[in-house]
Amino acid sequence: PNRVQLLERLARTIAAAHGDTNACFAVLFLDLDRFKLVNDSVGHAVGDELLVEAGRRIVGTVRGTDMVSRLGGDEYAILAEGLDGPAMAEELGLRVLSALGAPIWIAGRELFPTASIGIAMWHPRYETGEEMLRDADAAMYRAKGEGRDRCTLFDEEMREEATRTLDLEADLRRAIHSDAFEPHYQSIVRIGDAAVVGHEALLRWRHDKHGLLAPGAFLDVGEDSGLIEQVDWLMYARVIADMARTDMPGYVAINVSPRHFRSPDFAYRLIDLLEEAEVSPSRLRIEITEVALLDDAPRISETLDMLRERGVLAQLDDFGTGFSALSYLHRFPIAALKVDRSFVADLDGEARTESVAVIRAITALAGSLGIELIAEGVETESQRERLIELGCVYAQGFLFGRPEPLP
Ligand code: C2E
Ligand code: CA
Ligand code: CA
Repeated sequence: PNRVQLLERLARTIAAAHGDTNACFAVLFLDLDRFKLVNDSVGHAVGDELLVEAGRRIVGTVRGTDMVSRLGGDEYAILAEGLDGPAMAEELGLRVLSALGAPIWIAGRELFPTASIGIAMWHPRYETGEEMLRDADAAMYRAKGEGRDRCTLFDEEMREEATRTLDLEADLRRAIHSDAFEPHYQSIVRIGDAAVVGHEALLRWRHDKHGLLAPGAFLDVGEDSGLIEQVDWLMYARVIADMARTDMPGYVAINVSPRHFRSPDFAYRLIDLLEEAEVSPSRLRIEITEVALLDDAPRISETLDMLRERGVLAQLDDFGTGFSALSYLHRFPIAALKVDRSFVADLDGEARTESVAVIRAITALAGSLGIELIAEGVETESQRERLIELGCVYAQGFLFGRPEPLP
């Protein structure tokens, strides 16, 4: 049975349950863990076989009255009726996980499939099968987030979180309409004498109820909904307007989200904005994370090359937290590395020896490749001193200045 058939039966079950106070049933949403990895590494034929075997194992585990459906891809759903409570649904989920987990030999390879399951229990507030499936899906995501290979029950807390997310998304749409975003600027300094060499523009949202919000409060929702792209363009327009009307010393660096950076017209749009405002491109830098460099390398080099030809340099953000596959550093035109602030924070902490080693290695690397090095999140005088000893030249952090709006 596919999704349509599942929803048909679910609709009948829900209709009947609305007239029956004793009704107790559940939808279990199952998603194989890291299935894409199997497909990408050993091929689709093996992936197909794995899907068939997983389906067989699920069907072989549930009771005869349960309905197993393949929703698509590596997603399955189980409709389990006649339960006596959530514990019984969880027990069923765990049985399915243990049946799935037995090793499988396919094409001479031994695979150990695992899955994440989210469970939505029947409640009279549900009107449609889609609603139950959506909540089971949300619980499945939670199961993935908590480490995969587990079973999670949709609860009140998840409902509240889902509602908050929906509200925030609606607020974000309105904020885009009213352009409620503004850049704050934090200085980037030469660490030895605190001379300002540039600023990083940091996004702030002036929310009508919650006040001024930093990106941590809304970036995930912005990325998941795709709205961040519009927010970013509003932000860049503000930053470039600020640059046109003031003479901030040095460069201004803007943050670019990875998916945004991959859009083919990104460089053109940015250059257009600069030209319209008559701001020299060499005053602007972009900050990207390593994730942005990972796939589709030719297009990314093209974008970076084109920006650099015009004068817009790129700096690599949060360096050391990602894959740090050093091979890409010389393949892309990168002007600066920003050492992630976790390493700087550790300079004062217990992990001091490790972080000294990491920063020393990054300094040597940057030095030999002729790339600038900026330490992020410098808060204390002792961090500053250690960074100078380690040969770091530039820094950013509360010790030198907080993000602030232009006067
Ligand atoms: P990021 O690029 O790593 O930015 C640095 C963050 O560290 C900023 O947080 C800044 O306020 C904070 N920070 C600076 N100095 C210190 C310090 O000494 N100690 C500590 N604890 N924190 C410090 P913020 O402004 O909340 O921004 C968070 C993240 O949001 C940024 O991390 C960046 O990834 C993203 N972001 C900021 N502006 C934009 C934007 O315009 N567009 C997009 N797509 N993302 C943005
Ligand atoms: Ca940044
Ligand atoms: Ca950073």
